[in-house]
Amino acid sequence: MTVRVRIAPSPTGNLHIGTARTALFNWLFARHHRGEFILRIEDTDQERSRPEFAENIINGLQWLGLNWDIGPIWQTQRKHRYQEVIQELLDKKLAYRSYETEAELQAMRAAQEQQKQAPRYNNQHRDLTPEQEAEWVAQGRQPVIRFRIDDDREIVWHDLIRGEMRWRASDLGGDMVIARADGQPLYNFAVVVDDMDMQISHVIRGEDHIANTAKQILIYEALNAPLPEFAHTPLILNAEGRKLSKRDGVTSISDFRQMGYLAPALANYMTLLGWSPPAGQELFTLEEIIPLFSLERVNKAGGKFDWDKLNWINSHYIRQLSPEQLCAELIPFWQTAGYELDPERDQPWLLSLTELIAPSLMTLKDAVNLARFYMSELTDYDAEAQAQLHQPESPAILTALSQQPSPDTADAAQSVVQTVVQQCGVKKGAVMKTLRAALMGTMHGPDLIQSWLILQKRHYDQPRLLRALALLQEP
Ligand code: GLU
Repeated sequence: MTVRVRIAPSPTGNLHIGTARTALFNWLFARHHRGEFILRIEDTDQERSRPEFAENIINGLQWLGLNWDIGPIWQTQRKHRYQEVIQELLDKKLAYRSYETEAELQAMRAAQEQQKQAPRYNNQHRDLTPEQEAEWVAQGRQPVIRFRIDDDREIVWHDLIRGEMRWRASDLGGDMVIARADGQPLYNFAVVVDDMDMQISHVIRGEDHIANTAKQILIYEALNAPLPEFAHTPLILNAEGRKLSKRDGVTSISDFRQMGYLAPALANYMTLLGWSPPAGQELFTLEEIIPLFSLERVNKAGGKFDWDKLNWINSHYIRQLSPEQLCAELIPFWQTAGYELDPERDQPWLLSLTELIAPSLMTLKDAVNLARFYMSELTDYDAEAQAQLHQPESPAILTALSQQPSPDTADAAQSVVQTVVQQCGVKKGAVMKTLRAALMGTMHGPDLIQSWLILQKRHYDQPRLLRALALLQEP
């Protein structure tokens, strides 16, 4: 059998991490079996679908490296096909027109609620006579199309992740609407027509679709179409064990990207959300996972989102980059932060800065704060730096430092420090601390000598020494 899988996002929001993880599992499954991976954009809901969301989804999948073999296929371009199949179901009397007004349906639900019954459609327009139908039409009512659900049925399938699944048809809420009054087909129907026409062999999607699968199986049967295999993946949960949502900070792939996560790191992390690697290792590229991936090792329980682990994986991938690669990743973050730089002209300087801060990066965005001291004027000194500048020996040290030429090599910088040690009769530590306070405005940070050289290349060092001195001389 040829493996053909798909990811079928609705462009009603940005690419959600849950959808991206489902896409990743489909992609891995397709690549493992040398099958095909289809991207289908489920844009039939025209009120909620937006082109910018479709663009965000497509960009997000591309950024993650989840290339598709076919698509994107847009549902809106297949409208005629859905109409054709609706007609087929109407002709076979497996679907019918249902004429209730919204108010009547609401009244039905209210009555059920009062009797403490679960809400369901009571199938009352199943067998209307042509005369009754003509009367509703004459009244100007617009019918929806409903699909007959035989309440006595039990729907059973073998789920590749969850094992045997059983669903009583009577729990599906009565005959279901498959197309709205304006002809717009609804999800559970359109998805079956698409999966059938596209010969999807395996439907791999989130477990929130389990009840939909039961409904969809009935539609496959009505169309005499072979059933695909189904596999329902666990949800991604927050620290409290609830479905990860906007309230947890970020949920879309573009958010993670803006926060400074690298695509291979995020992809690596997402595979661990719900799949257990056979040998327990945790760091691997997508290419390395392909031969290892199987649905048998996808967990039934939800995957808890773990920021510490993601950060750990991200730092690992950051360390794998060459300074040139890392610098290219950091430049857009610095530009977004408003730092003035010319990627070509400043290349050597940006590279030294990248090398200096690289060991401290957990995310690419960390580089914004870490580079602030080098990219722009120093605006403030923190409390520790102020305390250091107010040490009795600091004015003499700063004066001596400012009278020395700016060093342009590490050796020259060390010899400036030595000269000042001798001139002022102080310990080396005192010179280094004062220098750090004056140049950086903080007592913590990357290597001081390297920082000094980087500042010197932008001519920031002398003005900072003088500024600190001036501060001390203020009354
Ligand atoms: N459009 C549906 C969604 O985004 C697709 C679900 C499915 O894979 O069938 O949830």
